[in-house]
Amino acid sequence: MSKLYIPGPINVSPETFAAMSQPMIGHRGAEFEALYASVQPGLQELAGTRRPAYLSTSSAWGVMEAALRNLCGKKVLTLCCGAFSDKWFDVANKLGLAADKIQVEWGQAIAPDAVRAKLEEGGFDLVTLVHNETSTGVMNDLAGIAQVVKSFPGVLLVVDSVSSFSAVPIAMDELGIDVLLAGVQKALALPPGMAVFFCSEAALERAKAQPNRGYYFDFVEFAKNAEKNNTPSTPAISLIFGLQHMMATVAAEGLANRYARHAANNAMIHAWGKRHGVANFAPEGNQSVSLTCFAKPADFDQAGFIKNLKARHGYVINGGYGKIKGLTFRISNMGNETAATMQALIDAMDDVLGVK
Ligand SMILES: *Cc1c(COP(=O)(O)O)cnc(C)c1O
Repeated sequence: MSKLYIPGPINVSPETFAAMSQPMIGHRGAEFEALYASVQPGLQELAGTRRPAYLSTSSAWGVMEAALRNLCGKKVLTLCCGAFSDKWFDVANKLGLAADKIQVEWGQAIAPDAVRAKLEEGGFDLVTLVHNETSTGVMNDLAGIAQVVKSFPGVLLVVDSVSSFSAVPIAMDELGIDVLLAGVQKALALPPGMAVFFCSEAALERAKAQPNRGYYFDFVEFAKNAEKNNTPSTPAISLIFGLQHMMATVAAEGLANRYARHAANNAMIHAWGKRHGVANFAPEGNQSVSLTCFAKPADFDQAGFIKNLKARHGYVINGGYGKIKGLTFRISNMGNETAATMQALIDAMDDVLGVK
């Protein structure tokens, strides 16, 4: 069986799969409402919010697109620094929205001052930020950027925390984030198929004023149903059973321990890179702690390394995404990984490289 260390989907525990195989229940009834309610405190704590968590039966992109449709009344500023953040700009264009962007080189982070300068041009009512740009391993300065956006009244902030949610603390309410979203197949270690998101009151007010926000991804519908611990349409109930199990797992470990474990596991991979002279693609100070993106050394047979790692040891890592495919490789440490499982991966990588 393959061991998945790509940055999503990741390894799912047998206990999670067991939780997911509980008998099906109807979604319009007390049992489902109890299930829905049971995941709220854990999700809210991870997001640093008192706002309800909404459960969307879609991958993260469903909510990323929805955020544009629900919240962009004038013009959106997308902060682009890699595959996911760049694509958000494309999606805004596909929706026919007025959109502008800040584009930095892949591997660089977004500077809060650049956001300020751009917003000073005026006309924007929405900013999209990918907190942890999974394609490059760059973690952006969420607090710094949020502070800038909040200093512009009427500009809402949407944050993709898809690959940082539950790996690092996030303070949605304190930072004034208007929409925070995550996919469950990243650090929450569930199979793909669902996204979790939160909306500020201001975000819901804005959504109400948007005429063409559709039905399936209408944030106002999510808010209305959440009041009754429910979802607008039939949700992925099995995934919510899995989520319930993960929330219990997260609570049992404790958030501080969970964050420390992710940082420690990530440091092990960074140390492996140092030992082999493989440099981080992301700059010091903006490196993700849920995955590592390495720049391929000039003389390194990256494709052979990845192929042999899988063939000999069953480990799957990623050979780069989008336009840096083949030039970088990425290793996830999200989810349930331990020092022991990370060490086993490191031993396998060393074996493939022919070092003891
Ligand atoms: C994985 C990922 C996405 C896309 O998620 P889907 O579940 O494929 O829609 C978006 N943003 C980031 C930062 C991601 O890592």
